[in-house]
Amino acid sequence: MDLSERPGESAVERWFDGGLKFKCTGCGKCCTGSSGSVYLSQNDLERLAQLFRLPVGSFARKYTRVSKGRRVLIDGPDSHGCVFLADKICSVYEARPTQCRTYPFWLTNIRDPEAWQEAARTCEGIDHPGAPIVSASEVLAQCRVDEENEVSLERRRPA
Ligand code: SF4
Repeated sequence: MDLSERPGESAVERWFDGGLKFKCTGCGKCCTGSSGSVYLSQNDLERLAQLFRLPVGSFARKYTRVSKGRRVLIDGPDSHGCVFLADKICSVYEARPTQCRTYPFWLTNIRDPEAWQEAARTCEGIDHPGAPIVSASEVLAQCRVDEENEVSLERRRPA
């Protein structure tokens, strides 16, 4: 998929030209699971530190660690869930990391209908009966934000 195409500029039909159905139900499943999966860009770090009224370094020492050269959030005390998940609710929602903001509109999830259905196996908000349709342009906008965030993460990775 070519994300450089602007919505409406391409004659090529995307499989999701009619939009994608999604609404977060708050089930919290995407906030639990494999350890070390919430990556933080510099912008994410600064936004979260500001929420906690902490210097970035202090926030990083308290709530993050380095995994495979990338800064990630630490796990919660009792599980492999996110440290900021409280009673299945994100306690830092307004300052949540970019990868959480853009989920599930990640390139890996929207590349074809099969990938979208695969994502729906773990995210009940995808194709949920009460979910609104998110327009193709909004899906692509979210995906671009996520891709740009990925690039900034790669730039920060030590050699
Ligand atoms: S798995 Fe999907 S529906 Fe559940 S909290 Fe995450 S984004 Fe929302």
